[in-house]
Amino acid sequence: MSTARTTAARVRRINPSPSTAAAQRVRELKSQGLTILDLTVGEPDFDTPAHVRAAAVRAIEEGETKYTPVNGTPRLRAAIAHKLRLRHGLEYTDAQLTVGGGAKQVIFLALMATLDEGDEVVVPAPYWVSYPDMVLANDGTPVIVPCSEAEGFKLTPRRLRSALTDRTRWVILNTPGNPTGAAYTTDELRALAEVLLEHPGVRVLTDEIYDEIWYADGENRSLAAVEPRLADRVFLTNGVSKTYAMTGWRIGYGAGPADLVTAVSTLQSQISSCPSSVSQAAAAAALTGPQQFVAETVRVYRSRRDTTVKLVNDIPRLSCPSPAGGFYLLVNCADAIGLRTPDGERIENDEQFARYLLDSQQVAVIHGTAYGAPGYFRISYATSTDVLTEACARVAAACAALTPAVSA
Ligand code: PMP
Repeated sequence: MSTARTTAARVRRINPSPSTAAAQRVRELKSQGLTILDLTVGEPDFDTPAHVRAAAVRAIEEGETKYTPVNGTPRLRAAIAHKLRLRHGLEYTDAQLTVGGGAKQVIFLALMATLDEGDEVVVPAPYWVSYPDMVLANDGTPVIVPCSEAEGFKLTPRRLRSALTDRTRWVILNTPGNPTGAAYTTDELRALAEVLLEHPGVRVLTDEIYDEIWYADGENRSLAAVEPRLADRVFLTNGVSKTYAMTGWRIGYGAGPADLVTAVSTLQSQISSCPSSVSQAAAAAALTGPQQFVAETVRVYRSRRDTTVKLVNDIPRLSCPSPAGGFYLLVNCADAIGLRTPDGERIENDEQFARYLLDSQQVAVIHGTAYGAPGYFRISYATSTDVLTEACARVAAACAALTPAVSA
């Protein structure tokens, strides 16, 4: 008698998110009484603004507690359309907007709605951990395109051109990016658009979840606005999680071609019916209400970025560029690989280096290989300057304790 198989191939093809796994490991160590300096967390350390919380309470009291339209409430879709008009000069009709349970769900559904077996999705590396697994879960083939530190961790037109095939369905562009904080300039987007215009069958999924967490002088623009001829091939995704410290509310959105939005809605109607009504009321308040929270938190993130970039670059064997947006640093630790720890163990790769930081100094970071960036690790600076300063001191101590490996 054959034994029951418990999971489908699509599950066996993918891994749990390494950032979620790292967070779990930190929780376990904390529960053992250890004090961990946690630089793994990919979410703001601020509370959701008071007026947003109040809007949610009001929604509960006033009975906004029922299913909403599959695509989101008219109020939230109007708020999203308003934001995209104001921010980028982009016009979207109701039929071109969809709201889901976080940008993560919206991205997943867009891939689910469009990929057939063997369809390729170009994923520039370093990438947000979820993209390759989301593609695999939906029967597609991720085509990872390494983008070096010397290239600013960004896709170049040449690399894009050589990655495109007649099976390419999507190119994913995350700007500002996780884990690098790198952002494409208008000129860089224009140059990529030139290549994309030569390939009319390819769509672009822009993940703009960090769009407001932006420090550079120049404007942070969206591909669809930079090249209007591409607008009907761009699916712009974003959400309220990072900008308004609303990660737990689970509201994200997508804007793009109506046929794609309809397909996403059809899936959503069978998966979740609609996003949470209360969270949608809160998200609408966040997008349309006062925006001081955003300016204030970005000021804080900028100061933490500056402090941490300097501290990291002062540590021998480590280095990182100063990113244009987001709240992450991708730190180059290639010079530490191959060295020996005080316990006599040779550090073979970035994963072991991250493990060494955790075990020897109780500093939790995420190894770069999880993001397609071997030889690096990611720091989230969405935590207090005190924690960042102490963590950098401990990382410096860990690095100072490394010695050259003696060859056998
Ligand atoms: N894209 C990127 C690049 C992210 O870092 C994250 C959150 N870690 C998301 C999307 C998902 O955000 P949400 O909370 O809206 O699902």
